[in-house]
Amino acid sequence: MTDTQLPVESLPSESAASAPVPQQRRVVTAIPGPRSQELQARRAAVVSAGVSSALPVYIERAHGAILEDVDGNRFLDFGAGIGVTTAGHTPTRVVEAATAQARDVLHTLFTITPYEEYVRVAELLARHTPGDFAKKTVLVNSGAEAVENGVKIARKHTGRRAVAVLDHAYHGRTNLTMAMNYKAMPYATGFGPLAGDVYHAPSSYPYRDGLTGPEAAARTIGYLEKVVGASDLACLVVEPIQGEGGFMVPADGYLPALQEWCTANGVVMIADEIQSGMARTGRLYASEHFGWVPDLVLTAKGVAAGFPLAAVTGRAEIMDASQPGGLGGTFGGNPVACAAAIAVFETIDEEDLLGEGRRIEATLTAGLERLRAKYDIIGDIRGRGAMIAIELVQPGTAETTKAPNAEAVGRLVAAAAQQGVLFLSAGTWGNVLRFLPSLRMTDELIEDALGVLDDAFATLG
Ligand SMILES: *Cc1c(COP(=O)(O)O)cnc(C)c1O
Repeated sequence: MTDTQLPVESLPSESAASAPVPQQRRVVTAIPGPRSQELQARRAAVVSAGVSSALPVYIERAHGAILEDVDGNRFLDFGAGIGVTTAGHTPTRVVEAATAQARDVLHTLFTITPYEEYVRVAELLARHTPGDFAKKTVLVNSGAEAVENGVKIARKHTGRRAVAVLDHAYHGRTNLTMAMNYKAMPYATGFGPLAGDVYHAPSSYPYRDGLTGPEAAARTIGYLEKVVGASDLACLVVEPIQGEGGFMVPADGYLPALQEWCTANGVVMIADEIQSGMARTGRLYASEHFGWVPDLVLTAKGVAAGFPLAAVTGRAEIMDASQPGGLGGTFGGNPVACAAAIAVFETIDEEDLLGEGRRIEATLTAGLERLRAKYDIIGDIRGRGAMIAIELVQPGTAETTKAPNAEAVGRLVAAAAQQGVLFLSAGTWGNVLRFLPSLRMTDELIEDALGVLDDAFATLG
């Protein structure tokens, strides 16, 4: 801490720093507080303006469902670092496993001299991803890198060039993945030229398209056959529940119909479960809710409770298509990140985190239904487990045009932050408020947050 320029007396003592953070909301300064404002000023001088922060409060400690900032404010965290701290902030088992691993080996590079933890993670992914067949895995560092590798592997396996994604998708910020996103702004604008051979097919968005699963699938397939042609299509990459797009839950039957078409046409269908996977939705993988067994599954965000780790897992014959040396990277499958992931799998199992996801869904959706009865700008409530959203529309349009209301979302998020509740927005039009808490978020804390949200709705007028 010597280079932080903070007054020495304000540094937390060792015991305070290691004490668990009380699981309560607490606001003791304006938000952001004075120390966060100081840090924000330092940041402005040295951190690229291209990196933004939703709420510029600087976090000092976190545990369970709570973030504590440098001014002593405690936030109910309904963002979980965008679905990363699904097993909670600083979960004890994970912290201990990672600490022990850090003492043993920090790095060897699996492609030089391997280690057991990488193999163990691959075994766990083979067992827990959907589908009862031989599977193999490659570990990488980030979600976008997993997407890139999924596409590489599918191209190598099929010998085909084209990549298809769905409208409203989000797949990352690397060169290939920014071409796979629906929204140009802010992800791709000015950063071209973009990768070619990426096609954006219509999706299933029941709230706005009113289509059944089979109807929406026929529309998607019609597009792929007409605009791309199955014989040139290497893969179709799909989020089972779309994340940044606004937590759209596809109509029943949509995903299995697409998989059936892909299988019949030799197209590799890839589930981007980066946000929806790892117990986020009350199932280990969201694909399970829809009876979808993908060829390849992408895992990242929640897999290692905050350590950078991501994976492509899937059918052994597809995963083995690459020549030796074609996949990998310096940090991919780092031993500490792998030890953390193993502990995350154990935590999900031993602490029934799937059950916690179902509990959170029940409490949140019941509370949001109460709010919908009071506020007619809540057009839709959707999602699964601890991945729930409301879509807001302009007053009086819920039964007609459903005109998006991003302004209301912005005001609700800002008002809640002042009260110590961190909510995130989402959605193609920015009009979705998403609830993405850790599975440690108790019913009591959810009710507390819903009370704050109710007050914020009341002030919208
Ligand atoms: C976050 C996300 C990504 C990108 O992951 P990074 O680790 O940020 O590169 C890709 N797909 C989905 C669905 C995501 O939510």
